Amino acid sequence: MAKIPHRFYLTEEQMPKQWYNLRADMKEQPAPLLNPATFKPIQEEDLYPIFCEKLAHQEIDSQTRYFDIPEEVLDMYKIFRPSPLCRAYNLEKELGTPAKIYYKFEGNNTSGSHKLNSAIAQAYYAKDQGLTSLTTETGAGQWGTALSEACAYFGLGLDIFMVKGSYEQKPFRKAVMEVFDGNVIPSPSMTTQVGKKILADKPNTTGSLGCAISEAVEKAVNTPNCRYVLGSVLNQVLLHQSIIGLESKKAMEILGEYPDVVVGCAGGGSNLGGLISAFMQDKLLGKSNTRFVAVEPASCPSLTRGKYAYDFCDTGKITPLAKMYTLGSGFIPSANHAGGLRYHGMSPILSKLYDDGYMEAVSYEQTKVFEAAVKFAKCETILPAPESAHAIKGAIDEALKCKESGEAKTILFGLTGTGYFDMKAYSEYLAGTMTDYIPSDEDLQKGFDTLPQIK
Ligand SMILES: *Cc1c(COP(=O)(O)O)cnc(C)c1O
Repeated sequence: MAKIPHRFYLTEEQMPKQWYNLRADMKEQPAPLLNPATFKPIQEEDLYPIFCEKLAHQEIDSQTRYFDIPEEVLDMYKIFRPSPLCRAYNLEKELGTPAKIYYKFEGNNTSGSHKLNSAIAQAYYAKDQGLTSLTTETGAGQWGTALSEACAYFGLGLDIFMVKGSYEQKPFRKAVMEVFDGNVIPSPSMTTQVGKKILADKPNTTGSLGCAISEAVEKAVNTPNCRYVLGSVLNQVLLHQSIIGLESKKAMEILGEYPDVVVGCAGGGSNLGGLISAFMQDKLLGKSNTRFVAVEPASCPSLTRGKYAYDFCDTGKITPLAKMYTLGSGFIPSANHAGGLRYHGMSPILSKLYDDGYMEAVSYEQTKVFEAAVKFAKCETILPAPESAHAIKGAIDEALKCKESGEAKTILFGLTGTGYFDMKAYSEYLAGTMTDYIPSDEDLQKGFDTLPQIK
């Protein structure tokens, strides 16, 4: 076979036309969502006030293996997909590893991340149901940007509650969202009851994703023809992101490859869940023995140091409860630079797979992550997002293990996005002023103390 190209693209005909629902092949299901008022398992209809109906259905449906991707969604996917499967020849050489390193690059759109994959789907279903506007939260800003693009495309209004710390750090992110008519509100804000309450308790808080979610949900349920959408964590989001893994698998198949190890960064779990889905199917069906590695920041270690328990998805405790690896909805992580990885919980699907031993997890301090980011940028000419750089660091460490053992393994990692809005962080790293913060057991205990007591 000819030499594998540096960047490989599927043709339009080869692109997947369906999303894959990983739950359909899990022997044991993730625990059901619970109603926050009664603590009873949620029915699909219970979700209708918050989510639009088709998405509520996707959230609950654990049986349907494949969902057709609507034509309108495919049409917009074609503008920026397929994303390339890249072979990191230069990085392999730099590391002196016998391993083959592949990465799936999702940063080739204005949101600079994989988040557009789900934003388009969610905006489409909202439009299809006749809704006129949406609300959401955003941390680092990628999700807010992706959803602004999607809402502008489908003609929907959008209020975005942006974690105040990022709002102040990344004014240009706000400007990009405004290009796409998104209305950006720093969170916590005085525009919601829950925001007012959080500000009364902690006037100087820089906010958290959990707070912003509470505000966005409150706004949605109090606005006619409006629903709330979430960029990660939920089953529906992992379903939409399965496109990443389906494309990767198909591309590798054509190239005659199959990964021994798949590595991804884990914030709420959507890119990782999407990347691994098609490969995890093979593992669940006993057809492969691929290893899956989740990489998270040492400052927000939900998988590696969290508890597997029912918890609220937001700080205001108004969303359904999910059983997941969590640091407690009251946990507010230190100001690390990977804004998209600062969530207290983790996708219930990934949490279950991790708890059942199908997946591993590691955590790294941010200075180590930026060291990997800079090395990667020089080799591959892509400036990675700090979130994505966690996966790079994980993949580099796997490749270095191969160097020691002499094994020529095939490694696939998810390069979720670009880091042009994170240059303050890069500058700090290069100036040597970046610090690492690892929460103590006592710090984590404060978060665990906020876990609800479920009988
Ligand atoms: C949001 C984001 C992540 C983390 O979110 P997941 O839901 O865990 O995928 C990772 N990388 C980038 C670039 C992001 O924007």
